[in-house]
Amino acid sequence: MRYKRVLLKLSGEFLGAEDGKVFSPEATGALAREIARAKETGVEMGIVVGAGNIWRGARQGMGMDRATADYIGMLATVMNSLALQDALESVGLETRVQTALTITEVAEPYIRRKALRHLEKGRVVIFGGGTGNPFFSTDTAAALRGLEIGADAVLMAKNKVDGVYDDDPRQNPNAHRFEELDYMEVLSRGLQVMDATAVSLCMEAGLPIVVFDIFKAGAMLDVLSGKEVGTIIHRKDRR
Ligand code: UDP
Repeated sequence: MRYKRVLLKLSGEFLGAEDGKVFSPEATGALAREIARAKETGVEMGIVVGAGNIWRGARQGMGMDRATADYIGMLATVMNSLALQDALESVGLETRVQTALTITEVAEPYIRRKALRHLEKGRVVIFGGGTGNPFFSTDTAAALRGLEIGADAVLMAKNKVDGVYDDDPRQNPNAHRFEELDYMEVLSRGLQVMDATAVSLCMEAGLPIVVFDIFKAGAMLDVLSGKEVGTIIHRKDRR
């Protein structure tokens, strides 16, 4: 296996249905099966989940104070974390949810050293509540937690897009998929992979980001075993 410990970033939308339902049992079931297959390899996994299926702070909180809208978004990620925990446990995985905003009735508070113990014991740790700060995103939370747990890579899951392209592959059949990119290329070309704060954090620490299609059966396994799938963002000059 190429990676022993990873931080998987899931968008909130992956948990919902196309008709706008907040949770789709088909979608959460499909995610859980792919995660369970990946876990069979012995990989240690932390997960950060977004909230796009429920709430998008800045855009949805029209007229609302930005920080308040963002706190609502963070709470929504806690709801998603619980839904994901339920789906993962129903396929037999051991999990813990830790939250950046404390709601100790439903989840543990985020304690880094405790998270590390859970990971060592094979539990999937779902980090809810983003970074716990407004004006940040769950992409940044993924980069931050990835660094804190000493992950070998951030796995940036996409839905039906198998990497980073130079144009929208759904619109342009000639769009080209990058096999690898440097962090600086992502930033300077403004490629829509993850937000710039998150890319910068990964860049500073040299934490690789792998972009792949999580709904393609076996794709995450291929990423973990080092097959050339998706797009890897890393330091191109220091391989
Ligand atoms: N959020 C925040 N701080 C964080 C993480 C998230 O304020 O550290 C809020 C922000 O309002 C964001 C929302 O939570 O819009 C949901 O997260 P995001 O949009 O990143 O979810 P995704 O697009 O991945 O589903």
